[in-house]
Amino acid sequence: MWTRARFLLVVALVAPLAAAGLPTPESVLGFRPGADYKLATYEQSLDYFKKLAATTKHMKLVEAGKTSQGRPMTFALISSPDNLAKIDHYREIARRLAHPQGLTDAEAHRLAREGRAFVHIDGGLHSTEVAGAQHTPQLAYDLVSRTSDPDVKAILDNVVLMLWPTINPDGQQIVAEWYMKNVGTPYELSGLPRLYQEYVGHDNNRDAYMLNMVESRVLEHTWRQWEPQIIYVHHQSGPFPTRIWLPPFSEPVGIEAPYVISREVNMIGMAIAKGLEEHGQVGATHMGTAFDAWYPGYVDYAPNFKNIAAFWTETALFQYATPHTYTIDDFPQNMRDLREQSLYSSPWPPGLWRLRDAVDYMETASLSVLEFAAKYKESLLYDRYQSGRDQIALGQKKAPYAYIVPREQRDPVA
Ligand SMILES: [Zn+2]
Repeated sequence: MWTRARFLLVVALVAPLAAAGLPTPESVLGFRPGADYKLATYEQSLDYFKKLAATTKHMKLVEAGKTSQGRPMTFALISSPDNLAKIDHYREIARRLAHPQGLTDAEAHRLAREGRAFVHIDGGLHSTEVAGAQHTPQLAYDLVSRTSDPDVKAILDNVVLMLWPTINPDGQQIVAEWYMKNVGTPYELSGLPRLYQEYVGHDNNRDAYMLNMVESRVLEHTWRQWEPQIIYVHHQSGPFPTRIWLPPFSEPVGIEAPYVISREVNMIGMAIAKGLEEHGQVGATHMGTAFDAWYPGYVDYAPNFKNIAAFWTETALFQYATPHTYTIDDFPQNMRDLREQSLYSSPWPPGLWRLRDAVDYMETASLSVLEFAAKYKESLLYDRYQSGRDQIALGQKKAPYAYIVPREQRDPVA
């Protein structure tokens, strides 16, 4: 029987923990991120980020702008309390190295040693690729609740994470509401009957060269304010039956992309694959025939031309938060022998795949990027400088110097 004495005893035991403790995602969302048949809306996710930030010195929220539908576009700065106390100083170092005119190599080395790596990670922008935006609350919680873990401490001491719950808040709200309304009905897996972003839908990832959309402008403006050295955008889904696609990109890659930055992206892709194997998460692949980097307008590739290691990954997806079991008969004929390949070392055997699996793969991937940034902090900052320095020098001695588009055109509207 639930006596009053027993109730008071429980309150006495729980209350100090609750005061000192951090809210778990499930305590605010009502379920664990990635749970079967559950999707958090943007409003729920932002509510969680606010509650978590209010209880920890390792996290601060920044409102970067508004979406097309008027929602706040917010990101979290996650780092050590010391770094956050000196955030303006570290931001100035990142900005100085990103704009190298007038700096000497010796000064750049000194700044790179003193600075911190800024890493942008977000929950994606193609909102029917649902796992990205579900993994960000979990990632935030796992970083700020494990500050005494030496691996997490190394990240928080060397890196400032800029974590966006999503970079398409309207889309997350629309898709999560649509799915949650349909769960358990014959329409559970049905496609969204409207665009998940005002005006443009999926092609919000093709806008980075002209910034037509307010969300693109918010991002670009934020990047110029903070000048991160790494930008990582989560997507779904990988080429079936692989479980996650990682850089290096497929051919062809962008021309005139800075060499050292392209090498950093390749290294990061391999660092993620290693991290996944360390966690027993098999089925990572690279390159292949999908996901080339030819098109220069992807939000997660265009920053390479500004000397930032920018890339995306593609984690496996069935549909929304509905689990699915695959058999070997679902696999293409040439993949049924589960043969190891050079860039697909650990073939995924068929079986159950749930949203939680995708969320877990994404979290390992994000943490592997942060671990890489912590270990290579100094060279990431210096390479940003070196790449900018070399691009400026190139522009002084090698064409093209500029493109002139004549006003008189055969087809003026085009
Ligand atoms: Zn995508």
